[in-house]
Amino acid sequence: MATLLDGRRLAARIEQRLQTVVAAGLEAAGRPPGLAVLRVGEDPASGVYVANKEKACSRIGIRNLGAHLAATTPAADVQACIERLNADPAVDGILLQLPLPTGLAEGPLLAAIDPDKDADGLHTLNLGRLLKGEPGPRSCTPAGVMALLADAGVELAGRRAVVVGRSILVGQPMALMLQAANATVSVAHSRTTDLAALTRSADVLVVAAGRPRLVGAEHVKPGAVVVDVGIHRLDPDPGEGPGARSRLCGDVRYEEVEPLAAAISPVPGGVGPMTVSMLLVNTVVAWCRRHGLDATPLADLLI
Ligand code: NAD
Repeated sequence: MATLLDGRRLAARIEQRLQTVVAAGLEAAGRPPGLAVLRVGEDPASGVYVANKEKACSRIGIRNLGAHLAATTPAADVQACIERLNADPAVDGILLQLPLPTGLAEGPLLAAIDPDKDADGLHTLNLGRLLKGEPGPRSCTPAGVMALLADAGVELAGRRAVVVGRSILVGQPMALMLQAANATVSVAHSRTTDLAALTRSADVLVVAAGRPRLVGAEHVKPGAVVVDVGIHRLDPDPGEGPGARSRLCGDVRYEEVEPLAAAISPVPGGVGPMTVSMLLVNTVVAWCRRHGLDATPLADLLI
């Protein structure tokens, strides 16, 4: 039976540590850490994600300084809002919730965020810092995967890692982080031929293809560690009747892969909670740096 890479449990432990760091620094800083989650429009999934992030902030003592703008807000007004948050001394982290409504280009708006307040680690400067191994806020989802692997004691040095997906949000920074941990990394994408042959070579397989249940037993070497980043809401089968509810699944066919794997992350409860945790870590670390506070209790979470 595979070890469960339990993101919910680890996220709860990280939150406790963050609470302690925030409580210890509050007097010296003179204010709590502040995170601004900026939501534009009414994407329903984003509504749930933003609410989860706001709840997590309040649990550990981060002030929520976010804003919700109408879907029709012109790009110049969204940019002006970001600039106000950049200049606001109470704000340590800014997150622009994606996707944006059609017609708003994310590139220039992400670029407008002060790189030192970039709680999502997606600014070009911060992706460059990751590439060069310089400190800076890291992309939350791949950083969360690294924390899950580290907590489970998964050895990466000298091992073969395969990342399925090459997005800027997940796949690319994931590959860089695994490489920085001395794994030998291959990246698969939608044009990869014979995906299963490549993924079967992996000691550590991270799947972020955004394709429900893409990866099954035929893709996994027995004894591999499998991390499922994908998250999808599946409608119930018509045969399940009118009361049936939708359910969540990942990019991995869990029931097929779990018996083969040495360790596996579930969906939900794997990578998702870790993404939120790393957002909180980025915010608290930025607050510590701004106020000259000791962030070393969180050093093991910084990549
Ligand atoms: P994306 O659509 O931007 O990128 C998907 C990548 O997968 C692309 O590089 C594409 O080339 C590759 N791909 C697609 N089909 C493939 C195939 N058949 N074989 C090999 N590669 C293939 O998606 P993303 O933003 O990187 O997100 C990926 C998944 O992770 C989505 O399901 C998303 O919802 C989920 N996600 C979860 C979290 C979380 O916190 N749990 C955070 C971010 C993204």
